[in-house]
Amino acid sequence: MSKPTIGFIGLGIMGKPMAHHLVRAGYPLIVLNLVQGPVDELVAAGAQAGKSAKDVAARSDVVITMLPDSPDVEAVVNGADGIAQGIKSGALWLDMSSIAPATTRALAKQLEAQGVESLDAPVSGGEKGAIEATLSIMVGGPDATFERAKPILEVLGKNIVHIGDTGAGQVCKACNQIVVGVTIQAVAEALALAENSGVDPAKVRAALLGGFAQSKILELHGQRMIDRNFNPGFKATLHRKDMNIAVTSGEERGMELPAAALVRERFEALIARGDGDRDHSALRTLLPIKEPAAT
Ligand code: NAD
Repeated sequence: MSKPTIGFIGLGIMGKPMAHHLVRAGYPLIVLNLVQGPVDELVAAGAQAGKSAKDVAARSDVVITMLPDSPDVEAVVNGADGIAQGIKSGALWLDMSSIAPATTRALAKQLEAQGVESLDAPVSGGEKGAIEATLSIMVGGPDATFERAKPILEVLGKNIVHIGDTGAGQVCKACNQIVVGVTIQAVAEALALAENSGVDPAKVRAALLGGFAQSKILELHGQRMIDRNFNPGFKATLHRKDMNIAVTSGEERGMELPAAALVRERFEALIARGDGDRDHSALRTLLPIKEPAAT
């Protein structure tokens, strides 16, 4: 059977390498992005350029969105020349952005009335996971739709879990971001305490990596903090958005998430200082930094 044509909207840090994998896997691909550079790159690799979200949707069997935030996804679906105006009955919309579960549910319901199947399929694993096609993908939506999308998801990730109904993938992503955000803050505090106590943070990281405090965050972001490398990666503005989704989702269920709320405040402070485009590991820079003594 020939492969379905995929429309891919949002070729940023994550979307661009993901789109490259789909072209390499032999899917006919139509791409769209606000900035032209990544579109040209994908076209050089064999994709076609779309004129608008409506145009991309009209020419595709599957439409993937990988956009920053809920309002971006709403605008691309329902704005002028949006997906909703072009998408065919029987098509599949696969939203891989991390957005509010309530937005996901509302848009999926709206498109269902047009005969469109939807899945929320946010990811974890960062730019590295996108480049290496090892993303963890958390999927919400009906069983049959999950089966339909699986071959495509398998091109992009390794750990693909069908979490539950529509919106469940986004709830899972909010849970993921609580663990990641709170752990970044913990690693930043631990390494700051080491440095400001005159203890080598690199040795502290090495020791902790062999014990119960071991984590990917300690390994990768701990190293970033030691190297003072805060190029994104995952922008602080996006993680603030995710902490907001987590805290708001908790409020909607009548529950407080105190550590998540604190980390949201830390991201807000970082952004207010003008560092919103730095990597989320830049939370370290809100704590005292002792430069190594000159030798
Ligand atoms: P990004 O800002 O690098 O990319 C977003 C892309 O969307 C940009 O290229 C932008 O031009 C495009 N875009 C925005 N509005 C558009 C529109 N109206 N039409 C067409 N294109 C439009 O963001 P990213 O880091 O790639 O993240 C994308 C999503 O994935 C976010 O929801 C983020 O939270 C999530 N995510 C990111 C990471 C990461 O490590 N970067 C990891 C997991 C999940």
